[in-house]
Amino acid sequence: MNTSQNNNTAVELAELKAEMDGLPHYFDAETEKERNALWDKRRALGKEIRAIEKALEAEKKNHKNQVWAATSMPAVMFFDELRAVIIGGDDPPKRMPKWRLKLADDLGVEIQPKDSARVLFDCRALEGRYLDAESFTEKRDDHRQLRQLNFRILHGDGCWIFKASAGQYSSDDQTGHKVDENKRLIQEPIGARQARIDAADIRLLDLKNRIIAALTPEFCSDGIALLSQNCLICGHGLKDPVSRMRLIGPECWGKAGVNAPILIRTSDQTASDVVERRYGLRLTEAGEKMLSGSTLKPDSA
Ligand SMILES: [Zn+2]
Repeated sequence: MNTSQNNNTAVELAELKAEMDGLPHYFDAETEKERNALWDKRRALGKEIRAIEKALEAEKKNHKNQVWAATSMPAVMFFDELRAVIIGGDDPPKRMPKWRLKLADDLGVEIQPKDSARVLFDCRALEGRYLDAESFTEKRDDHRQLRQLNFRILHGDGCWIFKASAGQYSSDDQTGHKVDENKRLIQEPIGARQARIDAADIRLLDLKNRIIAALTPEFCSDGIALLSQNCLICGHGLKDPVSRMRLIGPECWGKAGVNAPILIRTSDQTASDVVERRYGLRLTEAGEKMLSGSTLKPDSA
């Protein structure tokens, strides 16, 4: 049952309840036949109402469970390869880099490879307004408007397994008690807070599904949008234009065995834009493709 079906069911439930409330009272029936008919009607309506309530309750629990359930997803080759390059290199970094990717204007994910057979990546996703690279380093209090989902990518049988470990609602989800200007608790109907938590759980589930949908097996095939310019191998800041284009610093690039894919798109530029601005050339489509291949030499940094 998706969210809109859920809403329809809630509407149906309200209608059934209204119909039940609108029925004349059993004792107001004038004849035996009328009484019996009323009785049957009430019983039938009650049965329907209870069935819907039960289904809605199960659905709510299901949303919560689905957020935390292990979910298999296709492996993203790009990250698997990059991780293998880093971990399998002659001189693996002491601290694993953190890749901060922009998946959409309001969605960022931080992925850190792990040197473990079971856990491939440790990740954090942030979703909401005013998202930037700093969002991943600042304190929770500085971005309460962002929804957060921490998760791990585990090694599966021919696939990845997405396993959420912790989540934070957005302050926009309003799951805390509402207070007025004088910080006095505003009375709210019983269950209203629970309803907001249930709705927030659905948004966490939507966030999980959104991440899985964004990380396709072909991820990065037409560039990658990083929130901050750091070497994908060692995590150090990138300064020169060529390093910035391929997202790998000169040292890591020069090391033998580094055969990571070259990436040429920054968060808001296509390859052609980057090249045109920096070198005054307009790239053809073939040129873009060529730059995405391993054509840049280490010494060009
Ligand atoms: Zn590096």
